[in-house]
Amino acid sequence: MRIIDRVYIDGSFVEPHGEQWAPLFNPATEEQIGKVRLADEEDANRAVAAARRAFPAFSNTSKEERITMLKRLHAAVSERAGDLVEAMRVEYAAPPSFIDFAARRAGNVFLDMAEILESYDFRRRIGRADVEMRPSGVAVAITPWNSNYSFICGKLSTAIASGSTMVIKPSEMSAIQTQVITECLHEADLSKGVFNIVTGYGNVVGAALTANRDVSKITFTGSTVTGRAIAQMAATTMKRVTMELGGKSPSIILDDADLQVAVPQVLAAGFLNSGQACIAGSRILVPEYRRDEIEARLKEEVKVFTLGDPGDSEVRIGPMVSQKQWDRVQGYLRLGQEEGATLLIGGEGRPEGLERGWFVRPTIFSGVRNDMRIAREEIFGPVLCVLSYRDEEEAIAIANDTDYGLQANVFSSDLERAKRAADRIEAGRVIINGAPHEPLAPFGGFKQSGFGREFGVFGLEAFLEPRAVIS
Ligand code: NAD
Repeated sequence: MRIIDRVYIDGSFVEPHGEQWAPLFNPATEEQIGKVRLADEEDANRAVAAARRAFPAFSNTSKEERITMLKRLHAAVSERAGDLVEAMRVEYAAPPSFIDFAARRAGNVFLDMAEILESYDFRRRIGRADVEMRPSGVAVAITPWNSNYSFICGKLSTAIASGSTMVIKPSEMSAIQTQVITECLHEADLSKGVFNIVTGYGNVVGAALTANRDVSKITFTGSTVTGRAIAQMAATTMKRVTMELGGKSPSIILDDADLQVAVPQVLAAGFLNSGQACIAGSRILVPEYRRDEIEARLKEEVKVFTLGDPGDSEVRIGPMVSQKQWDRVQGYLRLGQEEGATLLIGGEGRPEGLERGWFVRPTIFSGVRNDMRIAREEIFGPVLCVLSYRDEEEAIAIANDTDYGLQANVFSSDLERAKRAADRIEAGRVIINGAPHEPLAPFGGFKQSGFGREFGVFGLEAFLEPRAVIS
């Protein structure tokens, strides 16, 4: 049993004022593996006070000093990569490929931000004005459980680059990885109060941070429902907000696509992190006249997506993170059939041979209409919908007919055609033919997937306030 009973405030691991505890589980076995003592409002406000005290000195550090800090943070996080992987394995039971990617990214974001800083000019002259990009102040980061520590690293790297101090409210379901990452960050030996980490419930600690008048900026990653509540409360004190919210991403297979390339990529995008990813390509759009052929291939290819305990390196789909998520996904599996969709593979109930663990059978619904709830709502599990279209015009219309706009995938043998289609898609990111990750490109959503961007120079500027001095 892992007992986590400290929060990190003002450069030290301290006993929280909060006295509530939350259990921690291994989703592959349903066993309790630890417990965490949660922070409360008083801890949240103490953390903000520490960040506030640290701000004047930190905001006046030079960009060269901050580049050095970012490099130290990268080294400290990379050193414990093995421990982070292990924490994520026991706490999420996520597939090994996802865990490895998350671990690499978590360290690299510090170097990415150092690279951006090298060439970023905080001062510029516009007519008679001297314009300086100033850090926004005390920033708050609120992270979701599905990739908790990589979001902590992404958000902290940007705060450090900008000269803002930070209070982080991680997911309360991810306390083991939060503990490891906090130890790493502590090793980088930044000044007291520059970052503070208080794990607690969203409606207690998250709400206290959102209401605190000394906080200038909130960077939130999580569901659209929670994001809406935070944005409303943040508006009271006009906090700057970046919202990275949910998605219902389309994967469009154009009629000239090479199915040998497209089908495995479509499945990988849909089943990313066992479907528990904001960017999961959960709607597969196929040309009507090739539907039978594509569905036959999907059915065949899905067999390589082995389900099981991710301790096994062959596993590509792990369990849902909690009993609550498992129940929710089962509800959608029933709903899809009630709505008139047919099961190509998968469906309700426990997968054969997996009596323990919150496993869901990888499922593909066929004959889905875009007005069905399974096509409109974020399911957050390994559940994909196949929708057919008559021509490219209709494909784009279906892709855009959603409240979300985080990411889309386009597959075509003709790159120029794929780019023309991408130009018409209302999403913050469009990936063509499964192109590799581009770490400095902006990331964020259109429509109810949020606003503001993270990473690269767009991410940095979301933490800055221009001040013009005119003489
Ligand atoms: P969630 O919205 O339930 O919780 C996210 C965080 O907000 C948690 O730390 C939670 O404790 C906190 N919170 C809850 N209520 C709060 C309140 N009233 N005030 C302040 N904070 C509060 O989301 P989740 O279930 O942890 O994560 C899954 C969701 O996150 C999915 O919708 C997914 O699409 C989204 N997500 C988005 C991105 C992105 O970059 N766009 C990335 C990953 C996950």
